[in-house]
Amino acid sequence: MQAPAHSLSIALRLNRIQAPVTNLGPGRRIALWVQGCSLGCPGCMSPSMQDRDGGRDVDVRTLAEGLAAAAAGFDGLTISGGEPFQQYGALMALCSYYKALCPRTVLVYTGYRIAELERDHPERAFHKTLDYLIDGRYLRRRHDGRWRGSTNQRLYRFLTGQAVECNPWWSYTEKTMMLSVPDALHATMAGIPERGDLARLRRAMRSSGIKMRLR
Ligand code: SF4
Repeated sequence: MQAPAHSLSIALRLNRIQAPVTNLGPGRRIALWVQGCSLGCPGCMSPSMQDRDGGRDVDVRTLAEGLAAAAAGFDGLTISGGEPFQQYGALMALCSYYKALCPRTVLVYTGYRIAELERDHPERAFHKTLDYLIDGRYLRRRHDGRWRGSTNQRLYRFLTGQAVECNPWWSYTEKTMMLSVPDALHATMAGIPERGDLARLRRAMRSSGIKMRLR
């Protein structure tokens, strides 16, 4: 399903892009984090991505074309955040145009339950646009780490417009974190850290004489 040309004339609030990422969905993927989330889960692992004024606006058409041009060698695109469904128009336009440009899968993480999304978007365009959805608020007491933040979250596969739950997949995935160092001053991480991982990393860096600031 290709997005109508007029719907591409909008901006997506973006935090960052990292690739390759192999721990946020099947295969080797490009991962994109949107900026802005008002759900306020206690213990959120991405607090810096909650502020809607952070990040930067990017043109959806330019972004989709750039992601499609870089898609060779990747199995698909993973979108997290932040809360992608709080930018629903931009999200649907980005995903549908991206998929029209290159045959890759799209997986989206959301803090909403699928029933909330179906209530708020009764046309259910996301059933036809996305391939996978991981749904639900992050619950600190049920922390997990295999693709999902906590064990209440579920994985759905959209097949011919129907949402099919496929949670047994969790048992095949390992807990990993991926560190990317784009330059001497910055590093980005992808994956679901275990409790205390970031504090341990900070201590290890400090013992090597490197001061780490989390953003
Ligand atoms: S939905 Fe995700 S980004 Fe938003 S507060 Fe919850 S854990 Fe954080």
